[in-house]
Amino acid sequence: MIARAALPPGITRRRSPRRREPIFVDIDGTLTNRPDGPGGVVYVERVERLKHLVERGIEIVLWSGGGTAYAREFAAAQGLVGVMCVGKPCLIVDDNRRIRSPRKLLIVGPHRFFRDQT
Ligand SMILES: [Mg+2]
Repeated sequence: MIARAALPPGITRRRSPRRREPIFVDIDGTLTNRPDGPGGVVYVERVERLKHLVERGIEIVLWSGGGTAYAREFAAAQGLVGVMCVGKPCLIVDDNRRIRSPRKLLIVGPHRFFRDQT
């Protein structure tokens, strides 16, 4: 369960709060100032916020269009320990029809997720 207090202001759970569900966080343009690829300036305060969430038991998955190896390298370089790293999927295969509805999968921009967090 992700405690409401651990979530950024204004973001509420839409699904059952009993299930432990990871938060997927993009890298380029979200944790850096360059949305079109690697090499941007890292938003250190956002990385620190993720470390804090991990310390509190929140499962964080870094994912990137740059692929799994890139996500792992970014996590290692930033000292993000205990996070899972994957490339962005080209396809999701799942029998759960609920996650196919855009109303069931909450997607927010970095400005909303990280606001008032630093
Ligand atoms: Mg991006």
